[in-house]
Amino acid sequence: MGPGPSDVPARVLQAMAAPCIGHLDPYFLAMMDETQRLLRYVFQTEHPFTIPVSGTGSAGMETCFVNLVEPGDEVVVCVNGVFGTRMADIVQRLDATLIRVDAPWGRAIDPDDVRRAVRGRSPKLIAVVHAETSTGVCQPLEDLAAIARENGALFLVDAVTSLGGMEVAVDRIGIDAVYSGTQKCLSCPPGLAPLSFSPAALETLRRRKRPVVSWYLDMGLVGSYWGLERKYHHTAPINMLYGLREALRIVAEEGLEQRFARHRLHHRALVAGVEAMGLKMVVAPAERLPMLNTIQIPEGADDKRVRAALLLAFGIEIGGGLGEFAGKAWRVGLMGHAARQRNVMLFLAALETVLRAEGVAVHEGALEAAAAVYENAGSSSSSSVSTA
Ligand SMILES: *Cc1c(COP(=O)(O)O)cnc(C)c1O
Repeated sequence: MGPGPSDVPARVLQAMAAPCIGHLDPYFLAMMDETQRLLRYVFQTEHPFTIPVSGTGSAGMETCFVNLVEPGDEVVVCVNGVFGTRMADIVQRLDATLIRVDAPWGRAIDPDDVRRAVRGRSPKLIAVVHAETSTGVCQPLEDLAAIARENGALFLVDAVTSLGGMEVAVDRIGIDAVYSGTQKCLSCPPGLAPLSFSPAALETLRRRKRPVVSWYLDMGLVGSYWGLERKYHHTAPINMLYGLREALRIVAEEGLEQRFARHRLHHRALVAGVEAMGLKMVVAPAERLPMLNTIQIPEGADDKRVRAALLLAFGIEIGGGLGEFAGKAWRVGLMGHAARQRNVMLFLAALETVLRAEGVAVHEGALEAAAAVYENAGSSSSSSVSTA
């Protein structure tokens, strides 16, 4: 129940144990097609250029910037946590002109700040993190997409934590470049970065004046393996791809809407229990992510001792705070396979026990508050809120 990697279902691990075959084997080529179809389904896109990049989520991030940005380009990066900061770092390494738009940690980016930042400029790209895993903030995308469109800029979104846990509607929103990772809400081990480029992004890549500085992540070259030519570029990580395909099949079997509803339900139950204990969530209700819950560490509790007790006595891993939130917040993941009632109830009971042992005066009633959320959901709707 940390910020990733999340629990991996046995089906995915078993799929990864299949024999390693050649990266041009006909069976493997057919599997690549299926994987691309499934990736388009989770990204809700028709973009043909939708592939898994070899590498973790950060490789997906780097791929977007190295392919779409050239020295001297103006690039807007929205920063309200660790991952926006990482994007800004990459942009500076490419000798582009960074236009940084900040929001306080724990808050979403204000679109008006982006409007002000682009006035009188011609940015090539506007980049934002959809689900900031370091803070638990959800970034609404519509307004930022509109600003990008109005200014002739490409719109780039980090969907590492959001994909598979909440809607990432690439085509409806108008996202030109999007990347994710396998180990958050897709519940697959880390190692691949699902990515999708729009026709406009591909056109930007074609029109580059200089070659992409990274040979390995050059989507022009990698695209000839994932495209019709099936031409060798680098050896595909075969068994990782078995795992990703299986994880995506599980997502499709559940259905996106059901999956999003499941994440929301368990998030609501978790928050009800945490607040009943008298603890405070860091993020305001309207800006909370369902899959990453930040809890303020209460007065009198020792951050490291509490996390160690949860892990050693109850087998529960949660994340500590990063950056500005180090020592101030806990990050509780409800990602993919891990978003279920059993985990929520066990976590609440364990946290209550550990905090009492720390001498923190927590209120009674956490489990009852969470149970009430499940009861209401059960009586008001159908199987769409399965707690499996
Ligand atoms: C985890 C994460 C990344 C980085 O992914 P890695 O797999 O650790 O390289 C990037 N962005 C966000 C929002 C993340 O949560």
